[in-house]
Amino acid sequence: MSMIVADSQKVQDYASKVSNIIYDTANYETEVLFYLTQHCNLVCDGCYMQAGPDVPRNTLPVSDLSFYLSEFDKVPNFTHGVVFSGGEVFSAPINYVEAAAHNVLDRGWQLQFKTNGSWIQNPQKRDAVVAMLGRLQPHRGLCATEDEVLQFLQRIPKPIARVLGPKILEMWMYHKLPTTSMLDMAVSVDDLLHPAKSAQWFADIAELITSNRRLRNKVNLKTFTLNESAEFFENYVLGNPQLGATNVVRAKNKNALRYDINGCQAEAYFGDYVDVGKVSPVDKLSNIVMPSLGDSAGRLVYCFYPDKTVGFDCYYLESVGRVPYVDGQGRRKSFARLQRDMYTQLVLDYARAISK
Ligand code: SF4
Repeated sequence: MSMIVADSQKVQDYASKVSNIIYDTANYETEVLFYLTQHCNLVCDGCYMQAGPDVPRNTLPVSDLSFYLSEFDKVPNFTHGVVFSGGEVFSAPINYVEAAAHNVLDRGWQLQFKTNGSWIQNPQKRDAVVAMLGRLQPHRGLCATEDEVLQFLQRIPKPIARVLGPKILEMWMYHKLPTTSMLDMAVSVDDLLHPAKSAQWFADIAELITSNRRLRNKVNLKTFTLNESAEFFENYVLGNPQLGATNVVRAKNKNALRYDINGCQAEAYFGDYVDVGKVSPVDKLSNIVMPSLGDSAGRLVYCFYPDKTVGFDCYYLESVGRVPYVDGQGRRKSFARLQRDMYTQLVLDYARAISK
């Protein structure tokens, strides 16, 4: 009996903690990740998406993606940063990926393609991806620090700033301060989860993009590498003579570095390997808050899947609180309804997990 009381108290505590996070859209940032397809051309041991060549090739409908972009636009602390992942994102038809990408970029938002990079080996796929990148028109965003922006604004006498008005000041700022494209190509590079060839795939992608006049300022190059493969990255990316990486700057926390390839800046990010299957469900359910990108209390990443479900990206990669994003009549649920349904699902899953 006392065990049941203790469990119900735990569930209540969990429910109030989760409720305080999910509904606090002013203090937690909101981000969206669309798994456009779960199909992948590779078979990696430990793939937390259960992706692979035998998975159906169905894709997340562009009309659903478009609906939810508009829905999230109304959320106060939405970052306007969107990730397209998979499976392998470029194993989906490229005209479909392009239509989805326009939906994000044409709003002036940030888009990141997360890829295993293997498309570079397939001449037909490579040409299709390059042609698509050429047609996309990402906006540019300021990449100046807050201090640089402040210094810039302080140099303009107040009466002149008043006459110019905020719109012209902003245009001026974009002209004078460093800017960057709102489109990222992020490649997974490691020799633990992914094939070691991923380093060469990235090198070939980097060479292709930085030597293409139309793409070199349009596509930001990024890599994601496991900490356990950091040495591999040093040897086969930074040490690859094909890339001739220069100006390597390491972040103080060692989780990131910046370097130049052929005059273009590239960024590398590092994270720990997680054996998803070995993490307890309670740990997954308790870690739905991602590190903040700015000054917020943290981030909630909503992940949409081609099977018409949505869940939170938990700290251990697997989505939790997953629910259908359409109701019984096939109508898309509002953001408020998603919040409610995902909250209910998380609490239910937690109650189940602790009673086992
Ligand atoms: S490349 Fe990524 S999505 Fe594809 S099987 Fe490997 S880990 Fe899974």
